[in-house]
Amino acid sequence: NTPVDNHTIDLKLLTNRLPARQKFGHKGTYGHALLLAGSYGKVGAAVLAARACLHGGVGLLTLGVPTVGYDIVQTAVPEAMALPGIGQEHVTSLPDLAPYSAVGIGPGLGQHDDSHAALEKLLRTATVPLVLDADALNLLGANRALLDLLPPDAILTPHPREFERLTQPACHDYHRLELLRAFCHRHQCYVVLKGAHTCVGTPAGDLYFNTTGNAGMATGGSGDVLTGLLTALRAQKLSALDACLVGVYAHGRAGDLAAQQLGEMGLAAGDIVTHLGPALQKLV
Ligand code: AMP
Ligand code: MG
Repeated sequence: NTPVDNHTIDLKLLTNRLPARQKFGHKGTYGHALLLAGSYGKVGAAVLAARACLHGGVGLLTLGVPTVGYDIVQTAVPEAMALPGIGQEHVTSLPDLAPYSAVGIGPGLGQHDDSHAALEKLLRTATVPLVLDADALNLLGANRALLDLLPPDAILTPHPREFERLTQPACHDYHRLELLRAFCHRHQCYVVLKGAHTCVGTPAGDLYFNTTGNAGMATGGSGDVLTGLLTALRAQKLSALDACLVGVYAHGRAGDLAAQQLGEMGLAAGDIVTHLGPALQKLV
C-alpha cells in the first residue's frame, strides 16, 4: 500500500491558488471555454453550466448545444456564443477544438450513440484540459474501455451513482474512498466525488475533503453549476488540482451564501451561480 495523504479543503489550503485579476488583462487573458451540453428537454443544464462558467471568470465562452437549444441559450446567456451545426436534438459532432483553452462536456448531453462517438473523438484528440460530468460519465460507464483514452489531468465529477457506473455496484463509504484512490491512480485523472462532503481524488493517491456546502444544494442543476465553474478555472490555466480545490470550495461556499439569504429549502441551482462571485472573492 502506498502512503496516502488526506487533506481538508479550507481557506488555509487555498491560499495563493486563485490568481487576482490583472489590471491590464483582457478577455483573451482569461481563456476561452467550450461547453458541450444540452439535448432536447435538458437545455437548462447547459444554461446553468454556461452561467456558472461566466461567473467563474472565463474570458470567452462558446456553447456547443444542439439546434433545439440554440435560441434558448442565446436568450438566457447572451454573453456566450453558440456553435451552429453540432446536432439537431443532441450533440452529434465534435467541433474543431483549436480555439479553446478548456472543454467541459456532459450536463444534459443525453446518451445517444452519436454523442458517444463525439465523446470518443474528444478523448482521442483533445490536447486541452477536460472536465467530464453527468451524461459524459454515464457514457464512459456504459463503455469503460473509453476510460483508457482519458488524456492526462482530466477532471471527472461524478455523484455516487455515476461513480458506481464507472467502477462497480454499490459499496459502503470506506470502500468507496479506496476505490476512488485506485481509480484516480489507474486512470491518472482527478475525480471530484460529489456529496455532502465532496472528496477530490488525485492521480498521486491523495484525498481532499471539502468543508463547504449544505443540503439545500441537493437540488437539480447543482452539479451542472460545478461543471461550468471548473471549466472556467481550467480555461484560466489553474492546474487540475487547484481548479478542483478552488472550484469545489467556492461552489459550496456559494451554496452557503445562497442558503443564508434564501434558506436551504428555498435554494435552487441558479442561486448558487449568483453567489459564485462573492464566494470566489474570498479566495483571491
Ligand atoms: P449533482 O448530483 O450532479 O447535481 O451534484 C450535486 C451537487 O450538490 C454536488 O456538488 C454536491 O456536492 C452538492 N450537494 C448535494 N447534496 C448536498 C448536501 N447534502 N450537502 C452539501 N452539498 C450537497
Ligand atoms: Mg449532475
